[in-house]
Amino acid sequence: MDTSVLVINCGSSSIKYALIPVDPDRPRLAGLAERLGSSDARLKGSNSLGEPFEQPLGSADHATALEAILERLEGRLPVAVGHRIVHGGEHFTRAALIDDAVVTAIERTSALAPLHNPANLAGVTATRRLFPDLPQVAVFDTAFHQSLPPRAYRYALPEALYRDHSIRRYGFHGTSHAYVSRRADALSGLEGGGWLTAHLGNGCSTCAVWQGKSLDTSMGLTPLEGVVMGTRSGDVDPGLHAHLSRQLSWTIERIDEVLNRGSGLLGLSGLTNDMRELEAAEAEGHAGAALAIEVFCYRIAKSLAALSCALPRLDGLVFTGGIGENSAQVRERVIALLPHFDLQLDPTANSETIRGREGRIDTGGRQLWIIPTDEEGQIATETRQRLEEAAE
Ligand code: AMP
Repeated sequence: MDTSVLVINCGSSSIKYALIPVDPDRPRLAGLAERLGSSDARLKGSNSLGEPFEQPLGSADHATALEAILERLEGRLPVAVGHRIVHGGEHFTRAALIDDAVVTAIERTSALAPLHNPANLAGVTATRRLFPDLPQVAVFDTAFHQSLPPRAYRYALPEALYRDHSIRRYGFHGTSHAYVSRRADALSGLEGGGWLTAHLGNGCSTCAVWQGKSLDTSMGLTPLEGVVMGTRSGDVDPGLHAHLSRQLSWTIERIDEVLNRGSGLLGLSGLTNDMRELEAAEAEGHAGAALAIEVFCYRIAKSLAALSCALPRLDGLVFTGGIGENSAQVRERVIALLPHFDLQLDPTANSETIRGREGRIDTGGRQLWIIPTDEEGQIATETRQRLEEAAE
């Protein structure tokens, strides 16, 4: 039997999948079923030779799409399924072997992630039906941050809002921060180092990791808090909502929409949320693009400086995510804004690190790393660990 884990990331109209073998040299099978629920659903991916495919799925729902995905696994039946679940609340401090009680607990957490958890659960339900005999594990975006101390996770709000309504900071991107900080420990030889990790993709967050544990992070109750993102504002004055409501008569739905989908790099630049396009536009003199990149980098540096307070010792910085891994300019600008951190960037290594590869980019001082994230690999690892523990 194959010993691969099938990783499923189920959204409201999409399923991302990856079949992850134990042996890193064996090929992964990965793809995406999208536009589920429309009449134009499709499945895209690549086979074990790395050849791309695209298959129309008509008006497939999640269950039909999963059957199509199964046929794309080239006869390799996984040993388990690992599900990405966005919100585990305070209930889930690590990955959980899925049974009815776990499903009920995830449902109870859905109020905290109404757009994500129900979609994630739809994937769990369909996958359990399709593979009734396979163990399934839920891996939570929030679980890595359950080690935050109260001083980092509590808002300065009335206690009853925390006690009765679970309003606190949770943090997200946990699988990514966990993965890159563990790789940084391994690559640096500093087992249990103090790292500031910056996951900079379309969603962006920073994290302070000490001895393998998250001590603080930039996202909060929702993934809107923190640094500037592709279309999300990150931190704003909490008084903004009341101001927009009173002065402009904006509804809460409109405020939510603008802060989540019309702000960030897109809102600031008036052009795009795509960093590659912004860098090209800045080079051609586009003032909005220049401002967007400047605010983006400044707010990341500011967040990293703030999070350094959480660490007993700072050993280095790790960049990951589409922007963190690929934009030499963003890395250079963020590092230049932290002159008091003793960071000595190697400009050649910074600009020549090969895409998709891990690389160290300092000449001394504190360590600087580019580490491509591997959220699917991390979900597969945590799924295996959970199963091994259950078998003991
Ligand atoms: P992700 O959500 O991790 O896929 O990251 C998406 C972001 O990475 C987008 O803003 C892309 O423009 C950005 N990105 C990808 N490749 C590059 C690149 N070579 N230079 C700058 N930004 C990039």
